[in-house]
This record gives sequence, C-alpha cells and structure tokens, in this order.
Amino acid sequence: MKIQALAPRLYAPLLAVHLTLLVAEPAHVLTWSYVLVLAVLGFTLVLAVRRVRLSVAHNRPLWAMLLAALLSQATAFALLFADSLANPEGTLVAFDPTFYFCVSSLLLTLAAAYEPVAPAYRWAGAVDAVLATLIALMFYGLVRTLVAGAQAHPDNARSLMWMFDGMALFVAMFATLRLLGTRRRDERRFYVVLSAFAWIELLAPAAHNRFILSSESYVPELLLSLPFALVGLMMSRRRDDWLRGYRPSPRMRHFAGAVSPFVLSVALCLLAFGYLRTQPGMAVVALIAGTASYALRASLLLGRHLASEDELKRLHQDLRRAALRDDLTQLLNRRGFYRVFDHEWERARRQRTPLAVAMVDIDSFKAFNDTYGHLAGDQCLASVARALAGEADAMPGVTLARAGGEEFVVLMVGHAPSAAGAALERLRQRVEALRILHVRGVAGFVTVSAGIASTTLSAYADAESMLSAADAALYEAKRAGRNQVAWAAAPNTKAMS
Ligand code: GH3
Ligand code: MG
Ligand code: MG
Repeated sequence: MKIQALAPRLYAPLLAVHLTLLVAEPAHVLTWSYVLVLAVLGFTLVLAVRRVRLSVAHNRPLWAMLLAALLSQATAFALLFADSLANPEGTLVAFDPTFYFCVSSLLLTLAAAYEPVAPAYRWAGAVDAVLATLIALMFYGLVRTLVAGAQAHPDNARSLMWMFDGMALFVAMFATLRLLGTRRRDERRFYVVLSAFAWIELLAPAAHNRFILSSESYVPELLLSLPFALVGLMMSRRRDDWLRGYRPSPRMRHFAGAVSPFVLSVALCLLAFGYLRTQPGMAVVALIAGTASYALRASLLLGRHLASEDELKRLHQDLRRAALRDDLTQLLNRRGFYRVFDHEWERARRQRTPLAVAMVDIDSFKAFNDTYGHLAGDQCLASVARALAGEADAMPGVTLARAGGEEFVVLMVGHAPSAAGAALERLRQRVEALRILHVRGVAGFVTVSAGIASTTLSAYADAESMLSAADAALYEAKRAGRNQVAWAAAPNTKAMS
C-alpha cells in the first residue's frame, strides 16, 4: 500500500490511542503522551521526507525547511519525553526544549520569506535570512530570561505563553501573506500547507497552554499531536492542489510583495522593546538592524526598479517603432502614416493651411518580379524607397510612408498645389534617375506613377476621401501611360509630367 493512502488510517488510530490514554490517565501518562506525539510526528516526518523528494528542484528548499522545522520540534518533544522520564512528577524541565521550538519558528519564518525563483533578488534573500536569524536569537534570549526567572516570578509562565503565541501568530500571518501573494501554483501548494500548519501551530498550543494552566485534566495534551497529524494529512494528499482557482489580483501581489520585507523588520523592532529595560544596548542594535535593513532593502530595490523602468521605456519605444515602421524599407508603415495624416488633417482643418497627399506606385512591378525574381524585386523596392526618402527628407513638411506592396504615400503639409506638384515631380524624377534596369517597364527603367490631391483644389469630407481621390488620380496616371503625376478633381485636373 502507498504511504499516502496509509496516512489517514494511521493517524486516526494514533490519535484515538492518544485520547484513550489521556482519559484513562495511567501511570506515567505524560511520558506515554509524548511517546504518542512522537509517533504521530515520526510518521509526519516520513511523509515530509517523501514530499521533499517529490518536489521540483526550485521548491525543494521550501519543503526541506518545513522538514527541518518538524525535525526540530521532534527534538523538542524528545527532550520533553526525556524530561518526563527524569521528572515523573511533571513540571520541572530538566532539558530545555524551547531552543528547538525557536529553531522551528526560525525555519518556518525562513520558509515564509524564501523566494524560490527570483534570481535578481538573491541578496534580498540573504538579508531576510540574517533578519530571521536575529529575530529567532532575540526571541530565544527573551525566552531564556523568562525561564531563568520563572521560579522567582510565577507570572513568567504566562508571559512565556504570550510570547510563543506572538511568535506563532507572526509566522502564521507571514505564511498567509505569502500564500495570498503567490502566483505560481507549485509554490502555492507549499504555502497552503505552511499556512495551515502555522495557524494550527498557533491555535493548538495556545489552547493547550491555557487549558493546562487552568485544569487538572490531561486531555488537552491531545492538542500537541493535532498540528502534526494535520500537516501530515495535507502532505499525503496525492492531488494537493488547493486553491486551484485562486489567482492573486495584481493589487494583492503588490501588497504581499511590499509588506513581506517589512514584516521581518517590524518583528525585529518589536522584539527590541523586550530588551529595552534589561539590555538597552541590545535593543538599540536590534532597532538599528530592523530599520536599517528595511531602508537598505528599499533603496536597493528602488534602484533596481528605476533601472527596469528605463529598460521598459526603451522596449516600449522599440515596440512602438516596430509597430509603426516597415521592415523592408524602414519607412513608416500604413498605421504610422495614418497617425501623422489624421493629426495633420485636423491641424490643417483648424488652421486652414493647405494639405496635399499623393499615392505613388511603381510601374509594372509585377513584370519586374517576373523578370528578375522576388529578391531583386525586394532590393528594387528598398532602392526606390531610399531614393524617395532622400528626396522627401530634404523637403520640409513632407512625410513619406509605404502604403503596402509597391505603393507609397506622400503627405505634404503647408504646400500650395503648385509646390506640392513640383515636389512630387521631383520624387518621380528621382526614381527615374536611379536607372534600375526594367526591360518590360515603360521607359526601360523602373519608374513610378503618382496621383495627387490637395485641400486647396477641392473640399474633402475627411482624410480618407482625400486619399481615395489621390488613388483615383493615380489610376488616371497609369491609364495615361505611367511614369507621370496626375491631379485629382477640378479645376486643374490635367496631368503633369
Ligand atoms: P502597375 O504599373 O499597374 O502598378 O502594375 P504592377 O505590376 O506594378 O501592379 P500589380 O498590382 O499588378 O502588381 C504589384 C506587384 O508588386 C505584385 C506583387 O508581387 C509585387 N509586390 C508587392 N509587394 C512586394 C514586395 O514586398 N516585394 C516584392 N518583391 N514584390 C512585391
Ligand atoms: Mg504597380
Ligand atoms: Mg500597386
């Protein structure tokens, strides 16, 4: 039988035996109780080892930290067991288990702070590890002080209880914060287990400690087994895909990401207050470490964010450029042209300045491709584009774009019809002057025809209809024999060549 299927069948009788034992109160009931806690915990350890082995490499440290925390608690309970053998009467603790409970809290805190996949922020992980260790050490220091003074001050037992509750609450809240902010599903599986374990590790011992302070019954000892049975059952689930549908909102992720580093610093500062009276030097060191680590972290992260913001801006610019430019000719593409055209159209309409637009098309280009091949066609297109661009760039207010295929579009802002016509004529001549051989072309060379429309000559309802008029004029230029410029609409519809 598979071990995960065995889990519920094993935990149930173990817990039942534990309960029966506590109710029956045989001799050495506490010793037997610890034996059963250790039995439950032992089986949970086996499941935890299996979980570490099954986990994907980047999550392995997380499961390993949980395993180590459980081991540390096993050591603590083994000491309690030994203590109960040495002191059958009970309360005196000959072997100190608190250290191992503190180590367990440290490991769970580290697991809550650990980032499995974030190579950019490795140093932040190191800062977190140092902070978590400091927290555990200072916590343990306070615990030792309280334990040492327990005989003289019976109230210390209650203080200790509250301290352990506080630490457990801190771990539980930290683990939950991570759970709520985690986007990756495999990581979330771990944080579900960690949060559940941390919360029951807060509630069960808190209830246990209060019961044993106020009652003579041994039954509350059962609460010590429960967290381990719960985490064992969770780890034994084959389909441990809890919160499958949960996706943290961006706001939740940002909140968790921003608060996580803050949590450790705040915990350290809070612990510092526990030292203010007894060891003010230590308190100051902790306060400085708490605040300085947060400030250091914040400023390093800010620097990194500013750098990535610059990088994003650059990428955005590249993307915009790529979206608005044509690859082959490096001219604006149709979309890029429309941006300029729509803007200039509105401006010309408001300011009543003349605007001309022309469609330019390579003559008999299909024949060129058929004769010289598509690759030569591409080179020809690029050469024509370069020539047109060289000419257009020299003229103020002229924008050239590739409209698609072997067609170009020219926008002329502030040009009266005569100037626009002359500019277009220069563009036509410029292509002719390239003298690219085209045996099936109208002149034996590659030539272009153009159709032009101007707002001064006709009133167009919108930019689109003006472009259509230029296109119709281009058709006229083709019909009239190619390698020429034709005007759209009255009154100057005669072709210029
Ligand atoms: P017209 O003088 O009437 O404009 O005739 P044409 O052959 O130039 O016009 P048509 O629309 O019949 O053919 C256009 C050709 O342009 C067909 C297509 O293969 C070619 N073409 C379009 N885009 C490209 C391109 O990016 N590279 C190459 N090599 N050829 C292209
Ligand atoms: Mg053509
Ligand atoms: Mg064409």
